[in-house]
Amino acid sequence: MWLMTDTRANYVNGEWVSSETGETIDVENPANPSEVVASYQQSNAADAADAVDAAVAAQDDWATTPGPERGRILREAGTILQERKEELTDSLVAEEGKARAEAAGEVQRAIDIFHYFAVKASDLGGTTKSPSGRQKNLYIRQEPVGVAALVTPWNYPIAIPVWKLAPALAAGNTVVLKPASQAPGVVLDVAEALDEAGLPDGVFNVVTGPGSEVGSEFIENEGTDAVSFTGSSHVGEMVYEQATDSGKRVQTELGGKNPTVVTDSADPAEAAEIVATGGFGTTGQSCTGCSRAIVDEEVYDDFVAELVDRAESIDVGPGNDHEMGPQASESELEGTLDYIEIAQNEGATLVAGGGQPEGEEVEDGYFVEPTVFTDVESDMRIAQEEVFGPVVAVLKVSDFEEGLAVANDVPYGLSASVVTDDHTEANRFIDEAEAGVVKVNEKTTGLELHVPFGGFKRSSSETWREQGDAGLDFYTIEKTVYDNY
Ligand code: NAD
Repeated sequence: MWLMTDTRANYVNGEWVSSETGETIDVENPANPSEVVASYQQSNAADAADAVDAAVAAQDDWATTPGPERGRILREAGTILQERKEELTDSLVAEEGKARAEAAGEVQRAIDIFHYFAVKASDLGGTTKSPSGRQKNLYIRQEPVGVAALVTPWNYPIAIPVWKLAPALAAGNTVVLKPASQAPGVVLDVAEALDEAGLPDGVFNVVTGPGSEVGSEFIENEGTDAVSFTGSSHVGEMVYEQATDSGKRVQTELGGKNPTVVTDSADPAEAAEIVATGGFGTTGQSCTGCSRAIVDEEVYDDFVAELVDRAESIDVGPGNDHEMGPQASESELEGTLDYIEIAQNEGATLVAGGGQPEGEEVEDGYFVEPTVFTDVESDMRIAQEEVFGPVVAVLKVSDFEEGLAVANDVPYGLSASVVTDDHTEANRFIDEAEAGVVKVNEKTTGLELHVPFGGFKRSSSETWREQGDAGLDFYTIEKTVYDNY
């Protein structure tokens, strides 16, 4: 059970074990950094290698466990997490800082993913085809890839690990996972739930510690067969090289610079609501968060006034009783404040926020005001680089054509939305937006769990998709059988 100021162990081969380094790392509450929430193992490559050995040893038996039995364990784990939802939500708010409603929603998503893939585990199969010879059976089986190495970020500390883990286990893979060091607690809670649900030893292993030690070992160790990474484009591109050099199947899902295009037919208030919820939700720390509003000059002034109103009315404070929590760490806060300064130096106009809020409740935490810049040009850094904080850059365009071109004028392509009352424009946007997720009259954030998710351009390796049936594809390999017995 999760307890404040616990020192928590790694989960390897069904046991709770300490790192051989003897070192631990504290996780602080970003709303009140003097409070240590829990301590975790500061593991090294040898600890990671032990976890891979356990996963390799457990592989054959798990791969041959009937799908419905694997599904039963996933369902039971989901049910255990459901019973502990309040506790998990507490942990998420304390470690990552997000607002309570957002944390509860994320925990529920993890539970729902377990239940979804519990059913999928029974449905796994293949296809039978008509053979050319009279006596032959010709069919295709889906087999597990082997040992999956998962490396995950801090911004959705339970949902992202689970959307990789659940399909991997459902398909019969064993797993080693390295969570981000800012908020690893909920992944250990997931391990506890799976353990209690009866998952055999070694099928799932969690090792906390630095990415360059633990993550690297998982990626390079010859015992792992597939690497699924979510995180920044900078690290992800290195991981991709490392994994392909080691001959692994790899998927990387990375950063974004997501636009919402507001056309002249849009209602400015509706568009501002869509941009504000997409841009400021989860403190602007979603990979799909809206960071560029690309607005037709006809509705520009009204839109800006509506967006500023919304930015200024957001209640910022500790996540348990406020609408928007802090940034997850000091370095994330500094990164956002740096970009606010860069934007001003580049000539953008600050029209809302731009600093840290004041008041007793927020004086020590990593809080930042929801921020809006206008007069942004597409070649400015604030319009090109991922900020990962609650900062929206507003760009003025003269028509839909220009809006579409500006939307695509970035190296990223994760999520893109358009607000319009014109069906032709909506269809053009769907056809031409360079993004893995395209939305009409919706915010850029918010995903369904049963459809593929992944980016274009620098937002993804574009090798495989996650979630839904596409999530299972990554963790399975086809074997074609010509049976003339
Ligand atoms: P990050 O790249 O700093 O870290 C991600 C993970 O990689 C962490 O567990 C980290 O410890 C590990 N790591 C770091 N260096 C490593 C190395 N050399 N080898 C192996 N592993 C290493 O990202 P972050 O700051 O945790 O997360 C924020 C980023 O993630 C943002 O860019 C965001 O857009 C992106 N993100 C993308 C998606 C998506 O699905 N596209 C979802 C969420 C977050």
